[in-house]
Amino acid sequence: MSFFEYKDIIEEGDLVLAFLGRSNIKPITVTKGSQLNTRYGNFEHDRMIGMKYGEQMPGAKGVGFIHLLYPTPELWTVSLPHRTQIVYTPDSSYIIQRLNVTSGTRVIEAGTGSGSFSHSFARTIGVEGRLFTYEFHEPRYIEAKKELEDHGLLANTVITHRDVCNDGFEISNIPEDFKKDDGICGDVVFLDLPSPWTAIPNLKSVISHQSRVGICCFSPCIEQVEKTVKALETEGWSNIEMVEVAGKRWEARKDMVKDVKDVVKRLKDIQSRKNQGIEHRKQSKIHNVGDKRDIKEVETADDSSPEPTKFQNLGKGFNPFGKGLRVREGDEQFQWRNVTKIESEIKSHTSYLTFAYMNPNVRLNTSVE
Ligand code: SAM
Repeated sequence: MSFFEYKDIIEEGDLVLAFLGRSNIKPITVTKGSQLNTRYGNFEHDRMIGMKYGEQMPGAKGVGFIHLLYPTPELWTVSLPHRTQIVYTPDSSYIIQRLNVTSGTRVIEAGTGSGSFSHSFARTIGVEGRLFTYEFHEPRYIEAKKELEDHGLLANTVITHRDVCNDGFEISNIPEDFKKDDGICGDVVFLDLPSPWTAIPNLKSVISHQSRVGICCFSPCIEQVEKTVKALETEGWSNIEMVEVAGKRWEARKDMVKDVKDVVKRLKDIQSRKNQGIEHRKQSKIHNVGDKRDIKEVETADDSSPEPTKFQNLGKGFNPFGKGLRVREGDEQFQWRNVTKIESEIKSHTSYLTFAYMNPNVRLNTSVE
């Protein structure tokens, strides 16, 4: 399997994302004789072979089920083994579209970290594009390289073990089919480093001299942003803007339109049941002083709500105000209006995204100096 293309049937050795729930997706490499043990049951890999990606797989004893999903960068991001903080899809998708990363784009990324964003870049630029990614932590570099290889992404990606702040981005062993103008010639730069401002001066020699180059620096603290902006200005980058992607859930649903006559009827019903209850309680106290069981029985026996004729076919106990039988949202027997509600608070801060651009003429002037 590869992140570049889709296939239907699961084979031995394939990566499958076992979907147990929205926040519980387990990556597995299908291996004969192995099984995935979950609290929903056991799922033998042998049975997965020959199944279709996307299919529901029942547990060994017919209880519980999982879905077998085809890996995409979006699903990989929420299931990958974390070795660092990672960039999630709300940020990566924004950065990719804002920097116009597309099929054939040449991207420079540091550091690789857990390879979350590397997967998105590699898939988006396709086999025509090139990703040059750098990681200075050796065990992370080794793991990321293995993962990229297993996922078929070394077809367009070169990962280098390097401290880009001290040693820059230039590499001597670029494969011939990865070279452009005899070098890296990046169109887009993404820096997710603790001190991007120390790496920015090293970019001149590896970015494109023909086209406008975009950069994004991903930093959690505003102090880092300030230093990054200064370095960008000093190095001749322009159109500097800082953005924060602050996602809020937007709920959209249908709300039942209630007739004013139903409301009046309901209020009268509540009042009359209250009165009946008070009366019953009084009578129970007179006849069964201290016998709580009798009072309860009287209340329960009398707890049936009147059934408005238009709701009669929905059964006993239904009322349109939330109690009784559940009504399916949008049920055509009722009138509905569309309503929306937004979360009042933003629950998470990921990072500030500092964008800037380098125009070819500026770079030529800088190199003349
Ligand atoms: N963007 C990555 C992802 O989505 O998975 C996560 C990057 S992680 C937050 C930052 C990585 O940068 C770490 O793995 C760290 O080892 C690496 N790093 C820090 N300074 C570096 C440097 N000077 N050169 C290369 N890599 C560096």
